[in-house]
Amino acid sequence: MGIIDERHVVIQPVNADWYGHKVAALDMLRLDLLHPIVSGNKWYKLRLNVQHAIDAGYKTIVTPGGGYSNHLAATAVAAKLFGLKAIGVVRGRYDVLTPTLEACRANGMELIFVTQEDYANRHQPDWAAKLVDKFDELFMIPEGGANEWGRAGAGLIDRFISSSYTHIAVSVGTGTTMIGLRNKLDNKQEILGFAPMKQGSYLKEYIHEHVKPDKNSNWQLTDEWHFGGFGKWNKELLQFMNDFYRTNAIPLDLVYTSKMMYGIGEMLKRGEFAPDARILCIHTGGLQGNSSVQGELCY
Ligand SMILES: *Cc1c(COP(=O)(O)O)cnc(C)c1O
Repeated sequence: MGIIDERHVVIQPVNADWYGHKVAALDMLRLDLLHPIVSGNKWYKLRLNVQHAIDAGYKTIVTPGGGYSNHLAATAVAAKLFGLKAIGVVRGRYDVLTPTLEACRANGMELIFVTQEDYANRHQPDWAAKLVDKFDELFMIPEGGANEWGRAGAGLIDRFISSSYTHIAVSVGTGTTMIGLRNKLDNKQEILGFAPMKQGSYLKEYIHEHVKPDKNSNWQLTDEWHFGGFGKWNKELLQFMNDFYRTNAIPLDLVYTSKMMYGIGEMLKRGEFAPDARILCIHTGGLQGNSSVQGELCY
């Protein structure tokens, strides 16, 4: 199962010439190297949640997610590493478990399957407690780790980010990681959020609401490169992932970081970055999700 080790994290150059445009720096922060499953931003969103659960004496954490959720996979392993029991509340029914759900179960997570309608109520208080019928002992982590501890934990990623970078690129699902970073980084550093789904404007409001007023500037969010929507992909994206790997020796995930790095390439080609730009792209992990297209990738 391995341990979570920040010493594995490196900053690796990306070949900007390959994209056909020169900038002073184009680098990737390899948070995916933290751990094979509790990787990327997921550990940072979980760590203060897990700490709080332990400090407050909870024995079980419960969290919702879909059948391919990186968050569920990471929660299962993080709970196991810290001696907590984990329950995953899964949206929909699966006759055959996805590789992600198989791994969750193999790591000791109990899975409860609920209908789309039940899942839609997941933001209501006591939702999970009612479902699993154990009121007091459960610590509920919201979907994607999107709470106060998640945002504060994501802010800890700032320890890897030097002030010499002018732009920080990050993939956005719930917006928790982007909010955490905006709250911590210098406002001179522009944050570029890449949403891999058709929901950009809804997330903008959410991000705006949760960033501290004095920090609420110099960020933008685009959903231009969603490739048909969340979890959707095509041959062109797979081809890009393979080319990116052959050029840079960095494996990208299918759902988030591939779309972000594709978008960065398009922005470079359009000349959206000045030649003195120093761009740091955050590799938020998620590689476990590539098992669904295993045969199609060269890594
Ligand atoms: C979950 C996830 C994200 C999105 O993070 P949020 O904090 O929910 O915005 C980005 N990249 C990867 C690889 C993820 O697994």
